[in-house]
Amino acid sequence: MDGSASDPKAGPIVVALGGNTLLGKDAPWTVDEQLSAIERTARQVTAAVEDGFDVVLTHGNGPQIGNRLLQQENTAETPQLPLDVLVAETQAQIGYLLQQALDNELDGPTDFFTVVTQVVVDDDDPAFENPTKPIGPFYTEAEASEVAFETRRVTTGERPFRRVVPSPEPVEIVEGDEITRLVERGNLVIAAGGGGVPVVRDDGLGGVEAVVDKDKASQLLAAELGAATLVLLTDVEFAYLNYGEPEQRPLREVAGETLRAHLESDEFDEGSMRPKVEACLRFIEQGGDRAVITSPDRFLAALAGETGTQVRA
Ligand code: ADP
Ligand code: MG
Repeated sequence: MDGSASDPKAGPIVVALGGNTLLGKDAPWTVDEQLSAIERTARQVTAAVEDGFDVVLTHGNGPQIGNRLLQQENTAETPQLPLDVLVAETQAQIGYLLQQALDNELDGPTDFFTVVTQVVVDDDDPAFENPTKPIGPFYTEAEASEVAFETRRVTTGERPFRRVVPSPEPVEIVEGDEITRLVERGNLVIAAGGGGVPVVRDDGLGGVEAVVDKDKASQLLAAELGAATLVLLTDVEFAYLNYGEPEQRPLREVAGETLRAHLESDEFDEGSMRPKVEACLRFIEQGGDRAVITSPDRFLAALAGETGTQVRA
């Protein structure tokens, strides 16, 4: 190994685990269902570690947050916890299950750490004026008019309304230095779960009612770690052009400039593929070697450059 920047095993790689890598397809997601999905994912991660990659994991938390909000709505007997605290809870929940599954799967000296991670956002971020990120359960129009938070019509049918919260840009990973040190010591770190706990920095740190996009937070973490590769694992093998249409076509090797042109011509859905593509572009435009979008079962092949959407400068 020559240790050059183009050697993908020379430094850490950041791997973001999407919703379906942590849960089965359908609610209500019992802990056994979570465990079997996580065990499948842990086997893929383990294979990459055994292949010599220095993996740092991040993950989504949409369904877990949704369940906690629903639990809170169904009781008046305990105080309602704010969103930042709930995000921290889901980091612990998912981190614990991942640590255990990885420990059961991987022999050898690697230690696993979940870092409860705060991500600083700007309190002037325009997202605070225009909440767009749907979270939690779905409501009828009548129910939506009764709740104490902002909702939007996000779909059709009987329960088309959902709570919406701001999704500001991540600016800084508060625990970035500690995460770097843990990674340098050879630990497998799980961090920035659910996009990180959103906080603003005034006189000190304080939690805010928002959700940071997990792909953007993963990109920021990858940049702070100086990672050469960012991998976004989701439930599709590629980002596609004309997605869902008869002429749908996978993007394989794609240059940043070309991908940006596709982004600007609205090829990627807001709230799903678009933030992933934006995270990939940001990563390589800030000096990363390679960003990859693929599914967990294709992870190793994608690391070898054989499949997935491979974005390079
Ligand atoms: P995550 O796994 O991080 O939760 P999402 O579910 O938000 O990811 O996004 C992945 C989804 O994006 C896919 O299941 C797919 O339905 C959707 N999608 C939207 N546009 C595209 C596109 N152009 N190419 C591929 N997938 C797309
Ligand atoms: Mg999803």
